Amino acid sequence: MLRTFAVAALVSMAGLAHAQTEPFDLGQDNREIAQALGQAALDSDLAYEITESLTTEVGPRLAGTPQEARARDWAVEMLEELAFENVRIEPFELDLWTRGHSVYEEVAITAPYPQELYAISLGGAGATPEGGLEAEVVFFDSYDALLASDADEDALEGKLVFVNDRMVASRTGEGYGWANRKRRDAWVLAEDRGALGVLIRSVGTSTNRFAHTGMMSFPDGRRPDIPALAVSAPDADQLERLHEMGETVSITMRTYAGWRGEVMSGNVIAEITGSEAPDEIVIIGAHLDSWDTATGALDDGAGVGIVTAAARLIAESGHRPRRTIRVVLFGAEEVGLVGARAYANARMEDGTVGDHIIGSESDFGAREVWRLRSNVGEHALPEIDAIHRELQSLGLVRGDNSGGGGPDMIPLQYMGVPMVRLEQNGEDYFEFHHTPNDTFDKIVPEEMAQNVAAWTMMVWLLANSETDFRPQAPQAEASE
Ligand SMILES: [Zn+2]
Repeated sequence: MLRTFAVAALVSMAGLAHAQTEPFDLGQDNREIAQALGQAALDSDLAYEITESLTTEVGPRLAGTPQEARARDWAVEMLEELAFENVRIEPFELDLWTRGHSVYEEVAITAPYPQELYAISLGGAGATPEGGLEAEVVFFDSYDALLASDADEDALEGKLVFVNDRMVASRTGEGYGWANRKRRDAWVLAEDRGALGVLIRSVGTSTNRFAHTGMMSFPDGRRPDIPALAVSAPDADQLERLHEMGETVSITMRTYAGWRGEVMSGNVIAEITGSEAPDEIVIIGAHLDSWDTATGALDDGAGVGIVTAAARLIAESGHRPRRTIRVVLFGAEEVGLVGARAYANARMEDGTVGDHIIGSESDFGAREVWRLRSNVGEHALPEIDAIHRELQSLGLVRGDNSGGGGPDMIPLQYMGVPMVRLEQNGEDYFEFHHTPNDTFDKIVPEEMAQNVAAWTMMVWLLANSETDFRPQAPQAEASE
């Protein structure tokens, strides 16, 4: 007990010591430039225009398809037009998966009360046998219930599994991970036990009658032979009511999804070369691919607009940053961070991972930024705190230091690259996420401009810093 108390006391004293550290001085000129950049961003609609162009002139751009290739060409042209340096495509290989059919697939209840359902194949799913299939539904109220149901080995043989978990909406989007377990992993449990297919309540918070797609997981590279689909929330409610009435439900479906072999994808890269430390890279990203069901305005056309506009506003300010700002528009994010892994592995091979001073991605829609989180060495916290204070007038609070940089930053973060993240309000993000309703009309120009302001200021200040943000090895005692 005493021991615990002693540790707690030490921790709180350490907290006190941190609180009493001198505030970090960003420098008067540097701060004034940052504030001017922020104002310029609030007055600019460049991000909005970029996203409008991508969603209008390219549209849906599923990883590995000709549409995604067209998005890369669009990006190169756009980045060159905006006078970025070193604009290039870094290609990588990808296993192509497509649904092989239109956005909605043929799924219907046949008994007890026949009616069609709005459903969509999940990324990576297999197809039904030619001509379709019909089977009885085994209803699980949650993914945990499915996990716990293995007492009767044969209960799922020849059946369709339905998993019903709901997702909770929140500003941080934190309900997603938990609700998403059924999308990622239910197929493995179902297939292993002889089920003919899987249906899930859509992972999302919308009550509209469209389904949310998204990638499944493939443990050890294993891929499903069975179909797996999400149904819209109102259709999931219908199945739930029938289950509660004690009815035996049968469903028929015909789907065409499958893996189509190796194709090429790519990341699009552009830079503003640093004046004093060109080898030091501040990497900012978004992903260029989207699901096939919509124009991917929020996921992640908005991110493409926001990070590109932020870098461009710095480039056109007349002030060159001391470090290089590298914009990476990643390919093939939705299908498993394939572009992000290719980028990070290439840096591992050419030995430049350590040049990446800090990273961040915008990939959570276009609502306002409300919090700055970080993941940097302890010694660098006063500087990140000072950067946060410059952004405070935009309405940002300071988050903790255990954040990530965004999905496409994960491989770099694993390799030790420090991260910051401007967190957006995600209250309604999962109403549109991976649905046919993720379209340009959902973006509010003023909210997007606030994002760009925060990004422009933060990126400027990070690119003019001289700090190594990586955790520093403890200093050896001089007397030892
Ligand atoms: Zn995304």
